[in-house]
Amino acid sequence: MKKIFAYRVFGLLLMLFLLCGNIRAQETQNKTVMDKHNHNKVEKTDTEWAKELLPEQFRVLRQCGTEPPFTGKYYKNEKKGEYYCAACGALLFTSDTKYDSGSGWPSFYAAAEKKNILEVEDNSHGMHRTEIKCARCGSHLGHLFNDGPNPTGLRYCVNSLSLDFREISSKDN
Ligand SMILES: [Zn+2]
Repeated sequence: MKKIFAYRVFGLLLMLFLLCGNIRAQETQNKTVMDKHNHNKVEKTDTEWAKELLPEQFRVLRQCGTEPPFTGKYYKNEKKGEYYCAACGALLFTSDTKYDSGSGWPSFYAAAEKKNILEVEDNSHGMHRTEIKCARCGSHLGHLFNDGPNPTGLRYCVNSLSLDFREISSKDN
């Protein structure tokens, strides 16, 4: 009789132990997801990016390429909406700050959120420029110049291939 009781207690304890372990594992899993979200970073290998992106997008976004001027699909886009990173979906620009710079590339005088865009010194091709990258995934967007219009005087010169536009219809406003 005593033996059976001892087995039961042991069984119960074992169940509790397993249950706690499971809960703890779940907590760890949730924490990992939250940490990733907080840091807001997307890190992938070139092989992974190459699988996800179109070859021309991969060349611009991941290999610092430049699309030929006056060819990009958003150069003349005057629709109201938001421009996201074509690689990771981070919000980069809004149509409110888009203007025609005459350069042949989509141009904005401000970022949607400054923290979403990294500025990196770029001395390639014998020029001194400021490269702009997506802060979330490190993808190349274009360059930043100081010859933009008011109120910032800045020109974010961006490849259409680096962007993903989502239109805001008037009924959403
Ligand atoms: Zn990105």
